[in-house]
Amino acid sequence: MIGDPNCPICGGTGFIIEVDDNGNSFARRCSCVESQIKKINMKLSGIPERYLSCEFDNYNPINDSQKEALMIAKKFVEDYPSVTGGLFFQGPSGVGKTHLSVAIIKNLIKKKGVRARFYDVRDLISIIQATIGTDNEKGNKILLEASQIELLVLDDLGAHRISSYTEDIISKIINKRYNEKRITIFTSNYVDEKDFYEYAEELNEETLESRIGYRLRSRIFEMAKLVKIDGEDFRKKYLKNVIQI
Ligand code: ADP
Repeated sequence: MIGDPNCPICGGTGFIIEVDDNGNSFARRCSCVESQIKKINMKLSGIPERYLSCEFDNYNPINDSQKEALMIAKKFVEDYPSVTGGLFFQGPSGVGKTHLSVAIIKNLIKKKGVRARFYDVRDLISIIQATIGTDNEKGNKILLEASQIELLVLDDLGAHRISSYTEDIISKIINKRYNEKRITIFTSNYVDEKDFYEYAEELNEETLESRIGYRLRSRIFEMAKLVKIDGEDFRKKYLKNVIQI
């Protein structure tokens, strides 16, 4: 049991020793343990540094799709764990898909003690690819963690180049999560309009299906509710004087 090292009540042991009516001493869990567990879960969530400040309160929706996405994200947190599936934020770059996904997991960790993990899909694949089969078994551990963690964010689906190897890794994770009814939040920049598919090939444009394959795409739609967000790239429009992009 881990307590807060600065806790004035238990001094970090996580326990308080008390004596019952018969004079027998017993240990009780200190109230600092729960907040300590949340802090640890936040640290282990893998939220990238640049997204650490993302909250619902600092997401400023500038069109109806963004308003709707914010509302759905908040409702998801409110309802969790009584949700039937995950969410799939889809739309162009810079509209806040990652921002909302991060705000969801931060809120769930803080308010409901959920164990959640954020992965950029490209990073996930590179780490697994670089370490699987090596002595330290890091790749296998990550694969297992991504498959089993209570709530997983897979950010930027389709950004990785599809190959049978990458498809295999992502399929393993997604199929395991699907079979065990674990909740996953996905984001992708790739278009998935039925009408667009008809023209995509002609226009030489990529679609979600051409990036991740038919089977994975279908499975994701079974696991998550589609939340389309459109708008201009927030970074280019509003942050160009603040950060370098
Ligand atoms: P996407 O995942 O859709 O590509 P991001 O979530 O990475 O977009 O957003 C890019 C940057 O712009 C982030 O710093 C994010 O916090 C910010 N951002 C995007 N949309 C909004 C918004 N509507 N209000 C406030 N910040 C936003």
